[in-house]
Amino acid sequence: MTKIFEKISDKNHEQVVYCNDPSSGLKAIIAIHNTVLGPALGGCRMYPYKSEEEALLDVLRLSRGMTYKASISNLNIGGGKAVIIGDPNKDKSEVLLRSFGKFVHSLGGKYITAEDVGMSVHDMEFIRMETNSVTGITRAMGGSGDPSIFTALGVFVGMKAALKKKLNIQSLKGLKIGVQGFGKVGYYLCSHLKSEGAKIYGYDINQESLERVIKEFGVIPVDNDELISMNLDVFSPCAMGAIINPSSIKNLKCSVIAGAANNQLEKEDRDSKLLSEKEIMYVPDYVINAGGLMNVANELKGYNKEKAKYQVEGIYYILMRIFDYAANNNMSTLQAANLLAERRIQDYIKWNHQQ
Ligand code: NAD
Repeated sequence: MTKIFEKISDKNHEQVVYCNDPSSGLKAIIAIHNTVLGPALGGCRMYPYKSEEEALLDVLRLSRGMTYKASISNLNIGGGKAVIIGDPNKDKSEVLLRSFGKFVHSLGGKYITAEDVGMSVHDMEFIRMETNSVTGITRAMGGSGDPSIFTALGVFVGMKAALKKKLNIQSLKGLKIGVQGFGKVGYYLCSHLKSEGAKIYGYDINQESLERVIKEFGVIPVDNDELISMNLDVFSPCAMGAIINPSSIKNLKCSVIAGAANNQLEKEDRDSKLLSEKEIMYVPDYVINAGGLMNVANELKGYNKEKAKYQVEGIYYILMRIFDYAANNNMSTLQAANLLAERRIQDYIKWNHQQ
């Protein structure tokens, strides 16, 4: 018991809810990290965690990340996340999802769920049967639809911000961009890159995804090692995390790293430092990939696609502020992003107390 409180207190989580429903087989944990700016919004991940401890650590880490992401994105929402312990291919059922929906509902709007790893937009529809505290449902059901389109737009404008700051370049025409992973985000990103005349290189372990972008956007295929060690203007990780580490940094020859993947740096402090030593500009992942969150957050007040697009395009200015702050205070772009995200919450608390 004490140990759980220690873990919850360590990163200042407000509330952690254990959900147990033997009749549906549901075992879930909802973590609410911070609700200063608004209700805690964050996806629900279903994964066959090896232990309860592993599930708890994951939900604590992910929910805290959502607080930072929402804050730096100027959204009036807080950070939360949920995990369902189980194999999504074997253990998921309508009743399990509805049971999860009931638990979410019992929190009275303090936590709002959405899709994450192991969950689909269709799963959100079952959750929606039990609660309105759910986002990321299909357009046909009145929701915001596929967030990847907006995540890709955010990555594109974020790339432009970084190139403007680092190389004083306005257009991507003729620039060499290397993309790792042509899944949902990587695919839409290519359409933006192609329309601006960039030269796209890339790799995907899935041959079908790779062939699609070769055919549709003229992507030049290279293998992963070559991609990392190429002379590129931008390297864009859009597949998995921890791809930026001492062994990849040794080979990187790009000017900018700007991609959608979560947790790109294997060790934040160590790898930020190594990148600065090589004068490679790192665009903090949770800032540049916030387009999907901005899009789902829009559902809370009645979905408006134009507004969502406007907000996502604003990632350009959010990043410019981070780059300037980092340069003026001699810190990494990631440190600057974290500091500005924390400051927004602290400033709001102060202002609110004075009213
Ligand atoms: P996805 O699963 O649709 O695509 C990932 C792609 O990467 C797949 O095509 C896969 O084959 C490929 N891949 C996996 N391992 C690889 C490897 N070793 N080398 C090359 N390619 C590899 O996922 P997505 O929705 O496009 O998301 C991409 C990344 O962005 C993920 O890290 C995700 O967490 C993050 N992200 C996505 C969104 C979103 O809106 N989809 C939002 C924020 C962050």
